[in-house]
Amino acid sequence: MTQNARIALVTGASRGIGKAIALGLAARGFDLVLNDIAAQATPLDETAAEARAHGGRVIALHADVSDKAQVQAMVAASVAQMGTLHAVVNNAGILRASDVEHCPEEYWDRVMDINAKGTFLVVQAVLPLMKAQNYGRICNIASIGGKHGAPEQAHYSASKAAVMGFTRVLAQEVGPYGITANCICPGIILTDMGRVNLDDPAISNAWKAKTAMARIGDPEDVAGPVAFFCSNDSAFVTGQSLNVDGGIVLS
Ligand code: NAP
Repeated sequence: MTQNARIALVTGASRGIGKAIALGLAARGFDLVLNDIAAQATPLDETAAEARAHGGRVIALHADVSDKAQVQAMVAASVAQMGTLHAVVNNAGILRASDVEHCPEEYWDRVMDINAKGTFLVVQAVLPLMKAQNYGRICNIASIGGKHGAPEQAHYSASKAAVMGFTRVLAQEVGPYGITANCICPGIILTDMGRVNLDDPAISNAWKAKTAMARIGDPEDVAGPVAFFCSNDSAFVTGQSLNVDGGIVLS
């Protein structure tokens, strides 16, 4: 594994945490495959252009991660255009707020389909090539919500707990092939999704008060820890779920 032989796929990369991860990896010398759904083609192209400014190869591919055929086609196109994939960051995710009693069934299904099944489908699609090259870095974006959670997010919390459970077993299956699998658990991060928790100043201030660093996180705060899990520096770290939350959940 040479330092410059690093090609990473980032899902949900058009904005928010996914965009910050993409730019963070580009700044560290990764070549990139950037994914989002077709409806986000314009912002995804903008992220790709910003990433290219760091000098690496960057392509943009549209796919809904909850659709197996689209995921398989995305990974095939990645290999055709980039040669292989060394790292995958499963970042695409959605949040739909509702209490349990009134939660529409379609909220449960869509959140599970994208957050949990989408992660499974992407991992399943990349495993044959990662096993064949005896190298891989899988970084799944879960959430402190999967460990702790907040009212009106039970289905979201369940989806992120599923990602962590999936990752712990995946790590055991793929470790002998030189593949690591870890989770990052962001806390409260200022993105379009994060604003659900932050629009009300009282709620925003309450979160700051619960955070050891006494501030709301920026998407860029997540990029460095993800890059660590995508690098050779984390070669003997697997099956872990690392909180990147400024000190909300202390362990
Ligand atoms: P965001 O701003 O809503 O960005 C998520 C991106 O994923 C969007 O571009 C979205 O496209 C895309 N996406 C949605 N469904 C997709 C699908 N089926 N296939 C491919 N891409 C899809 O969210 P974020 O705050 O950056 O969150 C990124 C990840 O961090 C998520 O997994 C989230 O659960 C996790 N997280 C966020 C926070 C936080 O406070 N922000 C905290 C903990 C964990 P659309 O815009 O079309 O939906």
